[in-house]
Amino acid sequence: MTSPPPILEARGLAKEFRGFAAVDGLNLQVREGSVHALIGPNGAGKTTVFNLLTKVLKPTRGHICFRGNDITAKSTADIARLGVVRSFQISAVFPTLTVKDNLRVALQRPNGLSGQWWKSLNALDRLDERAYSLAEDVDLGKYMKHRAGDLPYGRKRALEIATTLALDPVMLLLDEPLAGMGHEDIEGVTQLIDRVAKGRTVLMVEHNLKVVAKLCDKITVLARGQILAEGTYTEVSSNREVRQAYMGS
Ligand code: ADP
Repeated sequence: MTSPPPILEARGLAKEFRGFAAVDGLNLQVREGSVHALIGPNGAGKTTVFNLLTKVLKPTRGHICFRGNDITAKSTADIARLGVVRSFQISAVFPTLTVKDNLRVALQRPNGLSGQWWKSLNALDRLDERAYSLAEDVDLGKYMKHRAGDLPYGRKRALEIATTLALDPVMLLLDEPLAGMGHEDIEGVTQLIDRVAKGRTVLMVEHNLKVVAKLCDKITVLARGQILAEGTYTEVSSNREVRQAYMGS
């Protein structure tokens, strides 16, 4: 039996900064429905890969395909419209707006669900209905009237994820979703990622290897812009080169 084609594929992807290869001929395949981690030491090229996949940066060489179609020349907005949506490390919520208003704003973004449904009759009611449903999806229902800036850190991350879900993604790119979190928040946000991954594909950059082991079907280890190892957590963590280069043992 042949395996299904990858939902997202990078072929020979490269990015040079003044001759320095930050990403160096990357061949990456992300399987539909998987939770795939990109790990590696600082400077390995992980963020650059995310920037290339979402066209924040233009590749020096190589191609990116989504569902078999070459999307290398597409804009960030076009890529989001296809359903490939990224969350950022830096907090992207409006701190002085309530949770509800943050979700309303997210739902009305040009590439959001807006085009499909909110211009119809009872638009505001439907907008609110959708905002509440999104909030429930990430356990923020009881925080709707709170200012986003007053939320505890883990809840703020949940709101960020909800604003990403407002774009109805088929594929989520999560950039260090657990960065800066304490133990309790890590647990909650890990469960949340596990839940939002159902029926979607997730590619995440994450340093917390315990969480990567728990959530991810496949792990790609990057070092100096190239793939050092790939496989399940058990496979990559038993790879000697990975242990030396990344895990320090
Ligand atoms: P990671 O996310 O794995 O820590 P990055 O993708 O941020 O790695 O960076 C990979 C390499 O590319 C690093 O050596 C970094 O200094 C370099 N780099 C990243 N962005 C730029 C840039 N805009 N200009 C020059 N060098 C860059």
